[in-house]
Amino acid sequence: MIIDGRLLAAEIVAGLKDKLTPSDALAVIIVGEETDALSFIRQKKKVAQELRIDFRVAQFGGDITTIDLCQEIEKLSLAGDVGGIIVELPLPGTINRDAVFASIHGRKDIGTLAPYSVFTAPAVLTVESILAKYSFDLSDKVVAVVGRGLLIGRPIIHWLGNRCDRLITLHSQTGLDQLKSADLVITGVGKAGLIRPEMLKPGAGVIDFGYDAKDGKISGDLDTQSLTTNNEPLDFYTPTPGGTGPILVAELFRNFYRLVPSPQ
Ligand code: NAP
Repeated sequence: MIIDGRLLAAEIVAGLKDKLTPSDALAVIIVGEETDALSFIRQKKKVAQELRIDFRVAQFGGDITTIDLCQEIEKLSLAGDVGGIIVELPLPGTINRDAVFASIHGRKDIGTLAPYSVFTAPAVLTVESILAKYSFDLSDKVVAVVGRGLLIGRPIIHWLGNRCDRLITLHSQTGLDQLKSADLVITGVGKAGLIRPEMLKPGAGVIDFGYDAKDGKISGDLDTQSLTTNNEPLDFYTPTPGGTGPILVAELFRNFYRLVPSPQ
């Protein structure tokens, strides 16, 4: 089964439409002209328009200093009419990421980059939504998480804790041999086709967050092209594009609705 991320995202957004629209703005910060980041912003803007949310984009040149960027974010953190702040990644290598993340007010940090965000990471919420939708019980399953990055692997590893029977964490230094014993693979690396079907346990499920854009083609970590020729199919997987991406955006908005005061 291929999980239709756009459909699941549409269900989440439809649920938000039933709630009162937050009166505060959602501010997105982008530094430089990163084409991937611009495309991620377009996706968010579309959802914001659908929900009639005041969506403000603050774009800064790639030569902005860490101090100036932190000051801009602090202004938004203090602004009474801004409810949520998203800092779009990647940031230029010249910027001190930790300093920037620390300048986001934890109560406005719906993307959970700040050290003390009050929200749950959108990647975790995405996994929860997929598992709930398809009634997937983790408690007796072996789960492998590939990648231990800030946005995907790290929060998901932390969240999985003792929710599954056994957790395998894989990264650039471990190799991928242990994938074969996992009932569920959650991957966030960003290398197209890194995980081939024959590396997986037959009947396993794959939730793929990997995003690799080359020559205008967007691919995930899972080599989905080889799936059709494989005799031992997966139980389910998320395609790229159209899998985890739209769900994660919808979950960001769900976070935005959680703490923003709504008009009475
Ligand atoms: P990241 O900082 O890009 O780190 C990547 C991780 O992959 C690292 O932990 C790295 O290991 C590991 N890795 C690299 N090569 C590997 C290999 N050959 N085998 C196993 N692991 C390997 O992580 P991130 O910021 O969490 O982002 C991960 C991916 O998710 C990216 O492609 C990003 O674009 C994508 N993403 C998708 C969404 C979505 O909505 N679908 C949202 C956000 C991000 P080491 O730690 O050992 O270096």
